[in-house]
Amino acid sequence: MGKEKSGGDFRYSVGESKVPWHAVGEFYNGKDAVEIVKFILPDSGMDGYDAALAKVTAGIKDLAAVSGTATKLTLGKKVAEAEAISCEYFGAKYACFLDNWTGGMEIAYKLAGIGPGDEIIMPAITFIATMAYPLSVGAKIVFADIDPETINMDPADVARKITPRTKMIVPVHLGGYPVDMAPLMELAAKHDLIVMEDAAHGMGGAYKGKKLGAIGHFGGFSLHEVKNINALGEGGILLSNEDWAGPQFAGGRFLGLDFTRKIKDWLYDISPLTDRFGKPQVALNHSATEIQALGMILQMQRLDEIIAIRRKAAEYMNSVLSQEPGILVEKADTADTYGTHHLYLLRIDPEIVGGNIQQLSAKLAAKGLTNITHFGPMYRFKIMQDLGYNADEIAATCPNTEKMFYNSYTHLPLYPLTREQLEYQARAVVEAVREMKAGK
Ligand SMILES: *Cc1c(COP(=O)(O)O)cnc(C)c1O
Repeated sequence: MGKEKSGGDFRYSVGESKVPWHAVGEFYNGKDAVEIVKFILPDSGMDGYDAALAKVTAGIKDLAAVSGTATKLTLGKKVAEAEAISCEYFGAKYACFLDNWTGGMEIAYKLAGIGPGDEIIMPAITFIATMAYPLSVGAKIVFADIDPETINMDPADVARKITPRTKMIVPVHLGGYPVDMAPLMELAAKHDLIVMEDAAHGMGGAYKGKKLGAIGHFGGFSLHEVKNINALGEGGILLSNEDWAGPQFAGGRFLGLDFTRKIKDWLYDISPLTDRFGKPQVALNHSATEIQALGMILQMQRLDEIIAIRRKAAEYMNSVLSQEPGILVEKADTADTYGTHHLYLLRIDPEIVGGNIQQLSAKLAAKGLTNITHFGPMYRFKIMQDLGYNADEIAATCPNTEKMFYNSYTHLPLYPLTREQLEYQARAVVEAVREMKAGK
């Protein structure tokens, strides 16, 4: 007779027990596993799918008869592995894998001690997630103008906007082009500020030999399905090299409980975070599942390759678009920067083209191109008006943001376009610009 099947020990068990703790949960079985395979590899309508699926279903049934059961479904070995890989790859001392990057930023903002009235400087152009936590606690967002060449935060404008109430600077590597970090880190040191890199688009990129996300006091990535790599749809990584902050990540992720070590006594082991000013901060729940972590680990193995493919696609776009006067191609990497090409930044000179980017965007959409138009001035979002921010007053302090957004840029996808789609996209941009020049 072979070995008996047995369930593993599990979850919050605090020691040897006769009755396994997993008795309170429900496992996935072979039938479920078939459904998971069907979800990841759905029917394309091609001949042969049904036959191949029947083989897999029979195979999984055989496998289930002799397999163990995945008992640890959240915050287990895969999460730990995703974090170890992150420390190694990004060159960071601490890494925390979580449900999404908005949650990671929340933990960093809490550790930085952000509260009502504190000022956070971030670029005028980013995604709402960057400012969600500070807004939720009544902190004030101060918008730095952008560099017209990269649409990234302009460090010179950050310097002008620092006040005695400033607590943090939050650069965003928009589209994957690295922000000029050195002057920001200098400003932070001079004014005792915390820098958090929103590197949602910058996973795998670098600046002056350091990986993006591991340069500021905090940094991190989104593993949402649209980013360069994902964690089965959603995920986030928070990084730090700071000894006062990193050891608190595990507690910050799950209600003040650090499951990376044994919980000795629940009455005393649930504690608040201690922010940089020594004040208590209450953690919420941003746990991620083992299967999400596995999703990230698998795609991490292809990250460098994916960036290389994206880089080639961007170079191709540049080579075609640079032929047409009035189109400004994406800034190439310098000796200091290695971008991730998450999005292609398309800019035009409206004088030469004879129209603005909104007219061009409409033409591109009519030709069947996806253009990503949602990276706009945050101070114009309705939520900001509702919270009492005055859009026109702020706009007057961000002249490049206004000028570029309304006249000059949009973002295009680079991946996973086929060669054919990429060539069509480049051609369509040139055609649309020529139509505008001809007054059509
Ligand atoms: C996607 C994104 C985020 C948020 O990431 P989630 O994982 O979806 O929470 C934050 N900032 C920027 C710039 C993003 O594009």
